[in-house]
Amino acid sequence: MRKFVIMGIQGSGKGTQAAMLAERFDLVHISVGDIFRWHIQFHTKLGAAVKRIVDAGELVGDDLVESVVQERLQLHDWNYGFIVDGFPRNAVQAEFFLESYDIDGVINLEMPDSEVERRVLSRRLCSGCGLDYNLIASRPEVEDTCDVCGGTLVRRPDDNPEALANRLRDYHEKTTPVIELFERKEFVAHIDATQDRESVLAAIVDEFHLPTD
Ligand code: AMP
Repeated sequence: MRKFVIMGIQGSGKGTQAAMLAERFDLVHISVGDIFRWHIQFHTKLGAAVKRIVDAGELVGDDLVESVVQERLQLHDWNYGFIVDGFPRNAVQAEFFLESYDIDGVINLEMPDSEVERRVLSRRLCSGCGLDYNLIASRPEVEDTCDVCGGTLVRRPDDNPEALANRLRDYHEKTTPVIELFERKEFVAHIDATQDRESVLAAIVDEFHLPTD
């Protein structure tokens, strides 16, 4: 059983690395942002409650976020473990998480702000299946079209300069202290996220001595 938290500034490849690790090691990938986006896309009550906040790049209230994470983990479908992506994002959420779950370690993807803007503003998402693209690193074969399902690629509503500024501010003010808190209690692997995705994955595998075959 492997249990990880993946942290990193917006655009650092958290979602991509979490998905790659989940596939390789049979982990359940729990992305709080994806859960919210799903609810917004399907117009659920929860979606209506969080849409404005998510679109503006602000943080959803701790109680709501904690109940979403708790309900997801309570499904107990993670026989080989899980990787939590996008949570915790502040000290309150981190205390809640550490009280409730044991983890093997934290992956911290590091990237300078200058690179973040370039990457985030070129990010696209398939409106059909949710697959991530990047117009710099992973372009679709046909412009604006998903290689897998043929869906139209769109920009996330919160991938605009104003929302990004909010998210970067929150990250530095609220999420960086979480990494410091984790460092006192857990093993934190700091990974250079400016490398290509395969090298980042290899660095994570190496830090946690995960099997390579
Ligand atoms: P992400 O895909 O991780 O960038 O998350 C997208 C958006 O979902 C964030 O900008 C927040 O509005 C919301 N969100 C995701 N995770 C959290 C969290 N742990 N705490 C508060 N809001 C969150």
